[in-house]
Amino acid sequence: MSTLKAVRGTRDLLPPETALWNRIEATARAVFARYNFGEIRTPVFEDTALFARGVGEETDIVSKEMYTWEDRARAQSEKSQSLTLRPENTAGVVRAYIEHQLGETGQLQKLYYIGPQFRRERPQKGRYRQFYQIGAEVLGPPSAGSESPLRDAEVLEMLATLLDELGIAGWTLHLNSVGSSADRARYNEALRAALVPVVGQMCADCQRRAVTNPLRVLDCKVPADQPIIETLPVIADFLDENSQAHFAAVTAALDAAGVPYTLNHRLVRGLDYYTRTTFEFTHGGLGAQNALLGGGRYDGLSEMLGGPKAPGIGFAIGLDRLVLTLLAQESAAPQVLADAFVAPLGDAKDKTKLARINAAALVLARELRHQGLWIELGDGGFRLKKSFETADKTARRIVILGEDELQSGILTVKTFSTGIQTKVPRAELAVFLSN
Ligand code: AMP
Repeated sequence: MSTLKAVRGTRDLLPPETALWNRIEATARAVFARYNFGEIRTPVFEDTALFARGVGEETDIVSKEMYTWEDRARAQSEKSQSLTLRPENTAGVVRAYIEHQLGETGQLQKLYYIGPQFRRERPQKGRYRQFYQIGAEVLGPPSAGSESPLRDAEVLEMLATLLDELGIAGWTLHLNSVGSSADRARYNEALRAALVPVVGQMCADCQRRAVTNPLRVLDCKVPADQPIIETLPVIADFLDENSQAHFAAVTAALDAAGVPYTLNHRLVRGLDYYTRTTFEFTHGGLGAQNALLGGGRYDGLSEMLGGPKAPGIGFAIGLDRLVLTLLAQESAAPQVLADAFVAPLGDAKDKTKLARINAAALVLARELRHQGLWIELGDGGFRLKKSFETADKTARRIVILGEDELQSGILTVKTFSTGIQTKVPRAELAVFLSN
């Protein structure tokens, strides 16, 4: 029989790497709390219509990457329904905002989420079919200040703080404004016209995009197309006065806070509800999939989903990519060895004595664990040589507990990195092991 494996594009996350995932998630939660964000958990699957409307029918995500199925009705009172595993979380958050009338509070809603997302993409390093995002959204009625450029700057400053606290060295913030939908419509026309004489020399994808969604031409990565793309009009020249003022206020606040950024006029999002600020943080260490996170302002999304006017700004961080980046930075590698291995020295033939020394070892391990140490517990039924071999693989030190040690209260500790053996009184053991 062939053995079963995790499905292509999915993977198991195992220790010790999961310790790093936990550390990243804990840091994100702590930073978000300081900025007054609260956690939202939305369902992993939703009505397919949510993503068709909230992400956009013409996007790659909706047109070819979603895991969608027809869910059969189980009772006469139910209808069968098209469901989809969420490919992203913003649509779900905005749906929840509308469903629970969070706008009625009159307050800004600052919500964050952590969880799996699903897209049928071509798997490669840093790109999976089940991947994880840490994201946040700030949205609310305009009367709560949801349109203010200060919100954009605060979100960007929070992201810079988070990446710095995670110890991610060398990130770049790419920043742009896509203006209002009217600005973008004028830009689209100009782009379409400018593409007519040159698109014949571009890749097949660009030829298709020039007709369906000219903005997407700016995402093209084909080297030969780059010189042509550089000659195309840029969106900054099409922003109206309000959009210009908004962007100027965002960059001025970032300058004041000392958050570095690079203006990137090719960073556009093709969807109608994206407005004004768009951004991406990249990291050189990631290779082809170099985007750590992306986000932007989406002033029209709530209305697009049938809700009230609720301008907002949000982002989604690729958690898998944060982990890859940190694993490549040695200083951030997770601790893999326990502080100590407690090895009871028993006599496998004398069950009574063995039980007594094992119980004493459990008590010692309990004491040390209560003092915050990471302890592995051996078994007195094994020979000392075997205990040493196991301990050497799992811990930095071995603590030997035999009848003599139990009587005298003085334990024998060996540190593997130096090979030095030391006698340590029980009362001083925790301090000794934590150094
Ligand atoms: P998006 O929701 O497409 O704006 O993506 C936001 C971030 O999620 C990206 O910058 C990536 O870091 C991450 N991401 C998107 N798709 C994938 C994927 N298939 N595998 C791993 N990470 C992804």
